[in-house]
Parts: sequence; structure tokens; C-alpha cells
Amino acid sequence: MRPLFELPLPCVPVVGGDRGFPVRRLWCVGRNYAEHAREMGFSDREAPFFFAKPADAVVPGGGAVAYPPRTANLHHEIELVIAVGRGGRDLAADQAAAHVFGLAVGLDLTRRDLQMAFKGKGQPWEMAKAFDQSAPIGPIHPVGALPERAGIWLQVNGAERQRSDIARMIWSVPEILAHLSAYVELAPGDLVFTGTPEGVGPLERGDRLLGGIDGLGELAVEIV
Ligand code: MN
Repeated sequence: MRPLFELPLPCVPVVGGDRGFPVRRLWCVGRNYAEHAREMGFSDREAPFFFAKPADAVVPGGGAVAYPPRTANLHHEIELVIAVGRGGRDLAADQAAAHVFGLAVGLDLTRRDLQMAFKGKGQPWEMAKAFDQSAPIGPIHPVGALPERAGIWLQVNGAERQRSDIARMIWSVPEILAHLSAYVELAPGDLVFTGTPEGVGPLERGDRLLGGIDGLGELAVEIV
């Protein structure tokens, strides 16, 4: 059946090529660094849990992001992002690395005030997490072997807010894909945000964010 109208297909730049990575779905892991779990008031070890953002929440390559409506407490969360290149379900952790196309630096922007209110009422998180422009992502770096450790950091207006190492993730990249693929069948184009380290905090209009992961480049965003 021919569609009534065409939909835009979000695409993220890929380092070293002239073709973009088409985005199918955005999955996110909650509380995947012990220090961040503690700063949010939780103990540090539980099975990974997931939430989603729509594909068109992506801001490919970063740049200007509008301060979203209906919040007075927009938070930054710098994260390692997995770009899935090969699909599958019920992946074993020791085979999941072969399903990774590449890795990138991403921001899981969060309306923290709404998230806290929803948690308190047992309501869904979507409007705290899945809003327009809530997922800026830097260029995807194709990878062979997955890095075991790499510094991850975020500066706001030149001042460091978050710094950790991806080695401190409670669940590793292969373990995340194994768990996620037990719930949904993964497919090429899926992006997985792997959780943020400690140091999350509020943003204001005019703030300039610069985040990075060693070996995976940087992501620059301005809140407007
Ligand atoms: Mn997050």
C-alpha cells in the first residue's frame, strides 16, 4: 500500500562514511552506574530496566535544542549509545557484541520534575523522557572490538558536571543487549542509551554542553 504522505527518516552521521545510520527505535537503560543510582535514591544492583523514546526525538550530531515546555527542571544525562547493526532476539551476552554496528556519545535529556512526579504516582515516564529533541547524539563510530574502558564526561559552560568511565557501568554493552533482546526483537537501526553516571543536574536556556567519550569523539549542544 502506498502511504498517503512520506515520513522523515531520522539519520545519524557515521564517522568515515557519507551514508547516515537510519534510526528505527530508541531504547534507554535506567540507573546503570552505581553512583548515579545512589544519587537518585536507589541501591546499586538490580536487573536492568528499559524505557523508550520515539525515533524522531533524535538530534543528529547535536546543535541547538529548544528548552522543552512543561518543565522547570530539565536535566542532562551523558551516555554511551549503542547502534545496533544486526538484529536478533534472546541474544547470549557472549554473542551480543557481534550485533553492534557502532558506538556514539548521547544525551538522555530528562524533565526531572515530571519524572519525580510520575514515579510518585506510579504513572508512565514518557512525558519526562520521550519529548521532542530529547536525544541528541554525536556521530556513530563503527567498532570492531568493544572498548572495555573509556572516560565519559560532560561539561556545561566549560565546567565539568559529569565524569566517569564506561567500565563502571553495572551492565556492560553485551549484557544490555542480551537483556533487551529478551523483551523485544532487536533490529538494525535500534539505538540503545546505556545509562548515565553520577552528576546529573539542571540546564538553563543559553547553556552550552560539551560531552565526550574517549575514542568516540564529542557532542556539542546549546539549549535555546
Ligand atoms: Mn538516562
